[in-house]
Amino acid sequence: MTMNEKDIASRDAAWRVELRNEMSAKERSLIPRVKMPMLDAAYRVSCNDEVNQGLSEEQAVTEATRCLDCPDPQCVTGCPVGINIPGFIKNIQRKAFGDAATVFMSTSSLPAVCGRVCPQEKQCESRCIYNKMRKPAVAIGYLERFAADTRRMAGIKLEVEKAEPKGVKVAVAGSGPAGLSFAGDMAKRGYEVTVFEALHEIGGVLKYGIPEFRLPNEVVDAELDSLRELGVEFCKDTVIGKTLSYDDLLNQGFRGLFVASGAGLPKFMGIPGENLIGVMSSNEYLTRINLMGAGRGGMTPVAQGRRVAVVGGGNTAMDSVRTARRMGAERAMIIYRRSEAEMPARAEEIEHAKQEGVEFLTLCNPIEYKGDEQGHVTSILLQRMELGEPGPDGRRSPVPVEGAVEQIDVDEVIVSVGVSPNPLIPNSIEGLDVTRRGTIEVNDNLQSSLPMVFAGGDIVRGGATVILAMGDGRRAAESMDKYLSATL
Ligand SMILES: Cc1cc2nc3c(=O)[nH]c(=O)nc-3n(C[C@H](O)[C@H](O)[C@H](O)COP(=O)(O)OP(=O)(O)OC[C@H]3O[C@@H](n4cnc5c(N)ncnc54)[C@H](O)[C@@H]3O)c2cc1C
Ligand code: SF4
Repeated sequence: MTMNEKDIASRDAAWRVELRNEMSAKERSLIPRVKMPMLDAAYRVSCNDEVNQGLSEEQAVTEATRCLDCPDPQCVTGCPVGINIPGFIKNIQRKAFGDAATVFMSTSSLPAVCGRVCPQEKQCESRCIYNKMRKPAVAIGYLERFAADTRRMAGIKLEVEKAEPKGVKVAVAGSGPAGLSFAGDMAKRGYEVTVFEALHEIGGVLKYGIPEFRLPNEVVDAELDSLRELGVEFCKDTVIGKTLSYDDLLNQGFRGLFVASGAGLPKFMGIPGENLIGVMSSNEYLTRINLMGAGRGGMTPVAQGRRVAVVGGGNTAMDSVRTARRMGAERAMIIYRRSEAEMPARAEEIEHAKQEGVEFLTLCNPIEYKGDEQGHVTSILLQRMELGEPGPDGRRSPVPVEGAVEQIDVDEVIVSVGVSPNPLIPNSIEGLDVTRRGTIEVNDNLQSSLPMVFAGGDIVRGGATVILAMGDGRRAAESMDKYLSATL
């Protein structure tokens, strides 16, 4: 039986009422939460294979059965883009995997990516009714990944409605999740979209930042293929603001620009010794390895430290330290100035890092790097910290413990203490308002001070998340379409 989109997604559809009546809430709640099958830790540090192997069909259907199909599903309010979560989960329960994908793809353009990298425990899963019952939340992220992968591997194509060509060209600067979701939505609306990317690979952080053991390139490439099929053009090795200026784009007939250039400028702490050989940013380290093939026979070199310290507690720090283990580090350490409870990284990354033998030196802050006569880093002076009063963000601030300084030996340091927006585009377009933090100033419609220029993702938010960047791309497409439809 073929169903229309409304019936696929509606809680009142007859099939869904029937599913709800099949089992009581009590019985559902007695089903244990599924465990993600994963590679053994000793094996996975020897390669770059994806750690999480994905749920089997049986596991996914059982996990979907746990979902109570709540009348007022709070999980949806925890999703930054409001995906119809019970809607796709119940389609998994009835084994209509293509329909499950249809439901979330009406809101999310990168479900296989988001199912792998979203911090679900802080978003949708944190609001699941099961938490109130003191039971583990429904594994929403695992299920999203399952349905997206099943669709991709079965080659199920979703019917995409594409408007008549408008003959209007729009440009995108940057090919991360913000740029990609904008490009897809504008192409569906009938625009001629060209995405300009500074690097030689499309995908932004999804390609150069997040390692393959967490997000395989083939998953990102499949999303790119769908965009190409929609008619999106990609232009690599093109730096907007340098290779092509904003005026060049206008002269080439582009009627709108979406700036999605991300926040790829690394921050350092400004402590002595940061210029020593062997001290580098996460951005440089991961780009060399993920994008340039360093350590895998590529032309780009990268130091392969035996004792590697990664400074920071976010996803970037976890990706760097786990990469260092895979590059052969015998001692791979996270150095973080707060305690583990305050770490911003996804809980799963912290757990996986520990399984892989990463050491966590929490409540420690580097105050100086020391080097040898050739200028190579050899050790770090670490200041012991304790937690003081909560700061403006609600997190307890770290305070130095007087006189508690220790020295540890290292031969490589990777600094992962945050990022800033790349200043090139903000500085190169005259009349574009920029905040003190260097982000592009936009209104609620993501329109900048120049009416033809819209912006979203990390260039507006500072370092944020994939789902927020993707959501911005969607919102900006809607806004630019409205603006261009009214003005052209
Ligand atoms: C290592 C790492 C791990 C992360 N892990 C997670 C995670 O697990 N979960 C999560 O939700 N978020 C994670 N994040 C954050 C997330 O990836 C970002 O918030 C998101 O990618 C931002 O998307 P974006 O499209 O705004 O920018 P980006 O993904 O940064 O893409 C911007 C693109 O613009 C290009 N560009 C820059 N300047 C120009 C120019 N002048 N002309 C043309 N192109 C330009 C860049 O080369 C880049 O390809 C991680 C980030 C990093 C660095
Ligand atoms: S809150 Fe949990 S149980 Fe309720 S609909 Fe959402 S995922 Fe299902």
